[in-house]
Amino acid sequence: AAGVMNAPILPGATLGVLGGGQLGRMFVHAAQSMGYFTAVLDADATSPAGLVSHRHIRTGYEDPQGLAELARLCAAVTTEFENVPAAALQTLALTRPVAPAGEAVAIAQDRAAEKAHFVRCGVPCAPYAEITTPAQLAAVDASLLPGILKTARMGYDGKGQARVRTPAELAVAWDDMGRVACVLEKMLPLAHECSVIVARGRDGSIVNLPVQRNLHRDGILAVTEVHAGNVPASQAQQAVAAAQSVAQGLDYVGVLCVEFFVLEDGSLVVNEIAPRPHNSGHYSQNALDVSQFELQVRCMTGLPLVQPRQHSAAIMLNLLGDLWFKDGTAAASTPAWDQVLALPGVHLHLYGKAEAKPARKMGHLNITAATPEQARAVALQAAAILG
Ligand code: ADP
Ligand code: MG
Repeated sequence: AAGVMNAPILPGATLGVLGGGQLGRMFVHAAQSMGYFTAVLDADATSPAGLVSHRHIRTGYEDPQGLAELARLCAAVTTEFENVPAAALQTLALTRPVAPAGEAVAIAQDRAAEKAHFVRCGVPCAPYAEITTPAQLAAVDASLLPGILKTARMGYDGKGQARVRTPAELAVAWDDMGRVACVLEKMLPLAHECSVIVARGRDGSIVNLPVQRNLHRDGILAVTEVHAGNVPASQAQQAVAAAQSVAQGLDYVGVLCVEFFVLEDGSLVVNEIAPRPHNSGHYSQNALDVSQFELQVRCMTGLPLVQPRQHSAAIMLNLLGDLWFKDGTAAASTPAWDQVLALPGVHLHLYGKAEAKPARKMGHLNITAATPEQARAVALQAAAILG
């Protein structure tokens, strides 16, 4: 029986994903190109993943009938949305292999639990305090200010965060957040930010994507650049080792992104984890010989993992809805894709979202080139055309 359980789920089977966003869409594309059928569970009739999946179950994440239908259709299930209720994953896990597990996702969903996990793994993170009661607020150590107050749950793309300089500002910010559970993090002097994506199999084998260097604007990822020497070798090695120990400590199965801060003194601090493929790994679609989405398929089906090889220097530019409203115009107009696609090594990925809105992730451009300099030159030209 053990042999049967460990047998990989082969193409021809149906794979399920909780969540219908762009990450689910690109997972569906990868699974389908390998010969799997797909099922997406998402209440939205026009969700990016639902639009391209063989099956689309249009219920909420906690709907017992929807979850039962997903389990009935699928040989294995994954998630693309970080805030999917962990209980839904645990329910599915009663009858189907689920990767990542609800228990690991639950830790990633809560900044306090996440930081406690970093401490357990011996991976340094920013000094912080949990704030869940007025007494904890009053007891905050002055050395944590200036700091960033972050809601413990449901934050993303810089949402649910406030920068505070004094105890009085902190108190106001916590009130403004409705006194929900938060963490206060010391504001650190960042030299730059990077991330590492690891994929860990059911057998504990682990592979990683190259270290990604990330630029955020207004709390949202804007640019990812990846090439050898992008991040100094010692920091890159530390980041990969830290990401591996975070994944191992969770007994994680699937694709996991670990985000880091590199401080001005060169030290490396873990920021947060995402229990799924990540925006900073999108370049893998065109610059690596295996993408983060294919790795997710391999992890959840028990197929072998292979160490990705980068064959091109890469720059990923996020395409936010703002690009549809050039010069502050009120009516949306389609960006000049034809001009951008005239540049060498430009790969356009659009998510099929019905409506462009400022700050909404509409797609990304992967730019591949023989050298980092060439990739940068094309990225500048693309940005000039679009901006
Ligand atoms: P989100 O879940 O929204 O991605 P993050 O915690 O990653 O939230 O914060 C978003 C961005 O804000 C980070 O990528 C970084 O640029 C900045 N930031 C967050 N925490 C700190 C900190 N402690 N010190 C300095 N900058 C920070
Ligand atoms: Mg982040």
